[in-house]
Order: sequence, then C-alpha cells, then structure tokens
Amino acid sequence: MTRCGSNDVGTLSPDDAFAVLANETRFEIVRTLWELYEPNDPANVIKFSDLYDGDTAVSFSDLYNEVGYSDTGNFNYHLEQLTDHFVRRTDDGYELTQAGFEIAQAVVAGTVRERPRIDATEIDAGCPLCDSPVVVDYDNHHLVASCSRCPGLWQNADGDDGVLFTLPLPPAGLSERTVEQTLHATLAFNLTRIRSFIGGVCPDCSSAVEQSLDICEAHAPGNRGGCPQCHRRHQIEVAEVCHLCKSVARGPITIAILAHPSVTAFYYDRGIEHRFATWETFRRAQTVEEEILETDPLSIRITVPCKGDRLRLTLDETLDVVDIVRETPGAVS
Ligand SMILES: [Zn+2]
Ligand SMILES: [Zn+2]
Ligand SMILES: [Zn+2]
Repeated sequence: MTRCGSNDVGTLSPDDAFAVLANETRFEIVRTLWELYEPNDPANVIKFSDLYDGDTAVSFSDLYNEVGYSDTGNFNYHLEQLTDHFVRRTDDGYELTQAGFEIAQAVVAGTVRERPRIDATEIDAGCPLCDSPVVVDYDNHHLVASCSRCPGLWQNADGDDGVLFTLPLPPAGLSERTVEQTLHATLAFNLTRIRSFIGGVCPDCSSAVEQSLDICEAHAPGNRGGCPQCHRRHQIEVAEVCHLCKSVARGPITIAILAHPSVTAFYYDRGIEHRFATWETFRRAQTVEEEILETDPLSIRITVPCKGDRLRLTLDETLDVVDIVRETPGAVS
C-alpha cells in the first residue's frame, strides 16, 4: 500500500461519506482491509522517499472470503461504492486509501476497550504546587489529575477543587500502561498536539488553525483552586481552533510559551534538558509568571525562572515573541 502522496481519491461530500459508511458490509470491507494491512511490511511504511514503493493489495477473492459475504454480485456492488474514496483498486486487488485508513484508525483508537476507566488512584508523582501525591482518574475519554491535598489549579462548575488538569486521551492510550505511565502518555499526547497547533497546523487534519487569547479581565484566583470568574489560576489562556475539522485545544499561555526555543536554550544553559511534551513541562509552567504590560495594543510579559536567573519574554497580540531578556543576577562576571 502506498499511502503517502496519493491523490487519486474521488471527492465526496460529508453527507455522501456518511451514507457510504453507514452500511454494515461496506464498513466490514474497510475493517477487513485494515486488519490485513501489515504495518511492518517495508512496502507500507510512511516514508520520505519512494524507495519502498510497493503493492500489498488484497485480491478480490481473499477479501470476499475474509469478509464472509454470501453474494458475490452484491459484494461487488458494495466494494464499488467504497471505490475510490475509501478503497483503491490496484493491479493486484484492493487496498485502503488514506481516507479509508484514517476511518479505520479512528474507530480502533476510540473503541479498543469498552468504556475503560481508572478509579481514583494515587501515583508516584508530586503536585507542582505542594508536592503531595497526585491522584489520577479516567472516564469518558478524559484523564483528570488532582492533588490529594491542595486546592489545585482549577475549580469546576460543582465548586470542587484540587484539579490540576483534565485532558482528553483516547481509550487506546490506556492499553498496556500503568496508571502512572498513562499520566505521562496523556501529557505527551496533548502537548504534542498543542505544539502542532502552535506551529499553525491542525494535528488532526493538517488544515490552518486560528489562535486567539482568552484573558480574564477581573482575575482574582486568591488561594483557592481557581478564580471565581474564570475558574482557573492562570489569567491568560490560548485557544486554538481548526474550523475545518473542528478540533480545538486550550491551555495556559504559561504552558504554551514553554515550547519556544529560547526557553529550551535557557534551561539547557542551566543544565536542564527541557522536553516540551512531558509532565515536567506541566510542573515548570507553575513557576512561570504572566503579566499584561499594555492592553492596547496588547503586550504580555512572561517570566521563566530557573536557578536564580530569569528569562523575560515580551509577546504582542499575535503571540509573537518581540523581545527576549535574560536576567542573570547570580552570574559572576
Ligand atoms: Zn497540591
Ligand atoms: Zn483540523
Ligand atoms: Zn479569572
């Protein structure tokens, strides 16, 4: 199967696509082609060259037997309905197009297990605010990390506090992982997505994304979990949206800024290998300070502390870094 760079798929409206897939036999054909697809086969790897180009299509008779359908003529009709958008015909048989592959992937990632959940479990990770053990629970495709002792960073609608974050994770993310590993996978999964959004590319469909700021005007977090107005500790939140596939991501600017290369260099010069898509980024973000210098035009100051030194970044209304200052009071000249 050659999935990279294929451009021979037909066009289909969303209505037509739903109609094509809303048939048991047709969906079974997509599922079967996906089951028979062997990702380790050199012909199948996503690649940067055509070196491994090959054809691993499934013959009509093999596909027909695997799906287990009783009427050849009718089976052929269903197969034709899937061609060329979800299934492609080659000299040797049939294979999934990129769109067909992604449909199968989405179904598998979403339904690996029946409604998996993790009941509240204390793990070996310290709350970034008070260092007490973090408690993790998972339900409804979301992982919640809370502090076992302090008010945390958010106050939810029910007035509960202690929440550090609530982030999405597909059920497949729980497979073959301990609870602690699942926490780390959740951060890696979401921060990798956020980095893609920051880079202007939707992590789900590759379309252009829109970035905007949500600033709480009357921010007063006090010493409870979140501010009564916005329910969070941080004042400035970055919202990312893809208008094409409707993927969204939101998060504190104090986390988003930690993807900036000047931050990586600042930490590196102080003996810290800062890797963005990790739990450590979430912990470090709690030491970062945000400040609104001007409102019109908007100017934001972000301060990243490390070992007595400070990195000060000034951002404009488009979130471009327009000024960088390193303050090193402890430096010996
Ligand atoms: Zn805590
Ligand atoms: Zn998208
Ligand atoms: Zn607020």
